[in-house]
Amino acid sequence: MKILIIEDEPKTGDYLRKGLVEAGFVVDLARDGLDGLHLALGGDYDLVVLDVMLPSLDGWGVLQTLRRAGHAMPVLFLTARDRVEDRVHGLELGADDYLVKPFAFSEFLARVRTLLRRGKAQEPEILRVADLEMDTIRRRVTRADVRITLTAKEFALLELLLRRQGQVLPRSLIASQVWDMNFDSDTNVIDVAVRRLRAKVDEPFEPKLIRTVRGMGYALEAPEQP
Ligand code: CA
Repeated sequence: MKILIIEDEPKTGDYLRKGLVEAGFVVDLARDGLDGLHLALGGDYDLVVLDVMLPSLDGWGVLQTLRRAGHAMPVLFLTARDRVEDRVHGLELGADDYLVKPFAFSEFLARVRTLLRRGKAQEPEILRVADLEMDTIRRRVTRADVRITLTAKEFALLELLLRRQGQVLPRSLIASQVWDMNFDSDTNVIDVAVRRLRAKVDEPFEPKLIRTVRGMGYALEAPEQP
C-alpha cells in the first residue's frame, strides 16, 4: 500500500511519514503543491494525504487537477481548526475525508485504514490475462484452473504486472512499487523475483506471459494469436 503525503510543515510531514512507515506503508512525502501533484499524477498511490495550505499550489489545486486527470484514489485532507468552510469545499472537490489539525496519530491512522479499505472495494476483484487469474480480495492466483501459491512479494509483483498488462515496466518502477527501493537500488532483487514468479506461473504452462524487454524491464501480456 503506497501513500503520498503532501505537507509543507516539516515537523508534521516527517512525523506522519515516520508513523505510516512504522505501520507498514510505503510512503512518499512532498513538501509543496506542485511537487506533490507531479508525484500523485505519476506514482500509482493508494491514498493521498493532502494539506490545504501549501506553497506553489494549494491543496484545492492539487485535488482538482488530480480528479480532472481521472485519478480516483482516496484523498484525506488536513485542515486548520478555524477553517470550517474548507471542509465543505474539500468534500465538494472530491476529497474523501478530512482531519482537523492538530489530531492524534491514532485517529489519523484509523482514517487512513478506513479509506484504503474503501478504495480497495472499488477495484476489480479479478485480474486476468489469458488463462491466468488473480483474485485480489481473496488473494488467490490460478492458471488453467491450477491453484498457484505465491509469496507476498511475488503476489505484489504479479498484481503490478497484471494491472499494467501490455506495458513495459522498468525495474526502477517495479522496485519502487513492490519493494519501496529507489532508483539506485540493486535491481538484481527484481530479476531474481521475476525468475521465481516465472517458475510458478509461466514455466509449467503455455503460452509464456512474462516477457523480458532487454535493457528496459518486464511486461506481462498474452502473445498475439498466430
Ligand atoms: Ca501547510
